[in-house]
Amino acid sequence: MNNFGYTRARDVADAVRQIAADPAAKFIAGGTNLIDLMKENVTRPSQLIDITHLPLDKIEETRDGGLRIGALVGNSDVAYHPQIAARYPLLGSAILAGASPQLRNMASTGGNLLQRTRCFYFYDTTTPCNKREPGTGCSAIDGINRMHAILGTSEHCIATHPSDMCVALAALEARVLATGSRGERSIAFADFHRLPGDTPEIDSNLEPDEIITAIELPPKGFAANYTYLKIRDRLSYAFALVAIAVGLEVEGGTIKEARLALGGVAHKPWRDRTAEAQLSGAPATRESFLRSAETVLRDARGFGHNVFKIELARRGIVRALAQAARGTPQSQADKRIV
Ligand SMILES: Cc1cc2nc3c(=O)[nH]c(=O)nc-3n(C[C@H](O)[C@H](O)[C@H](O)COP(=O)(O)OP(=O)(O)OC[C@H]3O[C@@H](n4cnc5c(N)ncnc54)[C@H](O)[C@@H]3O)c2cc1C
Ligand code: SF4
Repeated sequence: MNNFGYTRARDVADAVRQIAADPAAKFIAGGTNLIDLMKENVTRPSQLIDITHLPLDKIEETRDGGLRIGALVGNSDVAYHPQIAARYPLLGSAILAGASPQLRNMASTGGNLLQRTRCFYFYDTTTPCNKREPGTGCSAIDGINRMHAILGTSEHCIATHPSDMCVALAALEARVLATGSRGERSIAFADFHRLPGDTPEIDSNLEPDEIITAIELPPKGFAANYTYLKIRDRLSYAFALVAIAVGLEVEGGTIKEARLALGGVAHKPWRDRTAEAQLSGAPATRESFLRSAETVLRDARGFGHNVFKIELARRGIVRALAQAARGTPQSQADKRIV
């Protein structure tokens, strides 16, 4: 472990001032990812700026009828909040599909967005990794890459974003509120995380001097027809091989509106507007679901060990859409549809 300083932010402005003054510093919230990265010597911050005492721990109604979730609200508190359970069950199910109860109690909303990839080469400092040390190469492309991405990859990195919560937030079209030296801004969820391109060391479009203050959910929660289907090696305490978040509006067997986001397949939660548009106005049938799965996966590419994910994702999308259309989010897919 390297030496590092520790300070506490007095308020959001003080947090921004402190991070702007020391680009090698890091905010610490629940610490469930950052402390691991420090122990493994992957991250070596000069100081930790403790933000846990900032007043960002509330879930409140917004003027337009949505909800604002403070960046320090714990993952468990989000999942079990009565408004989330009633209006945004997709978000609650995604959160509860992740980690363990102890971790969810510690983990914060802001920290969940900024957790880093679980690529084992990223954690193994004896191996080349462009995300950890730019320009050294990617050990995963020709290595053990069973957990890695099949969409949006680059020759520099094929890592996935590990969050479950973010997949649901992408489908719900949440916004990220951030404050930095240049003031406050609101970032569409689709624009928050990045694809690796030739800068895989940068995970998100948050500026180095910005703090996430909240997430805003729009009014529409797709509470009647939704599914978060997470496919993984163990039934709990495992990251997704493929995860699918679906929100549908269905009327008389016809899909009026569709949201579809995938986790475990790319460097960011993967949303495909063309596939969603194909579903709008289509009958809620296996044929429609298959067509949208084919669209989502049209450019999918495996790297050896993870080729199986393409077929897994195809079947997962069909099943998740069927479950959501039937209004049976946690049950087996209806045999009449799948
Ligand atoms: C064993 C294990 C299993 C897990 N399984 C899953 C899983 O299946 N699914 C899943 O989704 N997650 C899983 N997680 C990840 C867990 O959800 C994240 O570690 C957690 O959400 C991070 O939140 P935190 O508050 O602890 O962040 P921290 O570790 O405190 O911070 C993470 C990063 O975010 C930055 N940060 C934190 N808050 C802010 C803010 N407000 N503004 C700007 N920067 C900020 C920090 O500087 C740091 O870089 C697992 C974690 C572990 C250890
Ligand atoms: S996939 Fe990305 S994180 Fe993993 S070794 Fe390659 S560059 Fe590093």
